[in-house]
Amino acid sequence: MTFKLANVGGRAALVRDGSFYDVERISGGAVGSDLMDAIAVGDRLHELASGLAGHAPDGSLEGHVLGAPVPRPRNSYGIGLNYRSHAAESNMDLPQNPLVFTKFPSCIVGPDSDVELRTENGDYEVELVVVIGKGGRDIPEDQAWTHILGVTCGQDISDRRLQFATKPPHFDLGKSRDTYGPIGPLLVSPDHYDDPTQIDLSCSVNGEPRQADNTRNLIFSVAQLVAYLSSISTLVAGDLIFTGTPEGVGMVNKNYLKPGDVILSTVEGVGTMTNRCV
Ligand code: ZN
Repeated sequence: MTFKLANVGGRAALVRDGSFYDVERISGGAVGSDLMDAIAVGDRLHELASGLAGHAPDGSLEGHVLGAPVPRPRNSYGIGLNYRSHAAESNMDLPQNPLVFTKFPSCIVGPDSDVELRTENGDYEVELVVVIGKGGRDIPEDQAWTHILGVTCGQDISDRRLQFATKPPHFDLGKSRDTYGPIGPLLVSPDHYDDPTQIDLSCSVNGEPRQADNTRNLIFSVAQLVAYLSSISTLVAGDLIFTGTPEGVGMVNKNYLKPGDVILSTVEGVGTMTNRCV
């Protein structure tokens, strides 16, 4: 049974039709309220979702400011240049292997959090973010989706000056300032989609469309990324993979983020994040 998971006031909750159901309550205490605990028992979330009709909701999502659906990932990987269109606009060669960097887990914030720019070269990148459910090492590509708990939306906010302050560039720091990793609003199980390898994503700034694409155009597919990363580093429940951004980032036309800008980031099935730059 497909599920949508939210962080409501720091507690794990399943979402259906705009209402939320506290996971600890509807599981009779079998699943803890902490998001990371709930994420570690993904099979239970599928079961609980199938039994939602037997429970009254705890309330409506409307009016709640949601937290990050994965608030404390152990590892958070980013993939650079993973859409042909974005590699071309960046004047960079197509990577022969995935270009991997770290978004420090400390940069992860909620779907409506402010982004503290602290630079005049801040940039936006809407991305599909994959959340690992069942961890593993050397996960075969054809098994990869069985290790994925779900997907969410992410913004891979970047300080381009910091990113390119060294040669070769250090992506990690430039993409890991505090608040540079909004994710959410919901974590959606892969079985929500007819085909989880074809998901629309888009981004606008102050109402002006900037990015729109579909994950079918990834250079390295989600399954390939899981296989590749797990061949190097054992993946565990809650690990995040920011899978890369399509064309339209601000860097190309020096269209950098300014205080007061509002970024809307949407992933099909997941919903929209609203992040104000300060
Ligand atoms: Zn990115």
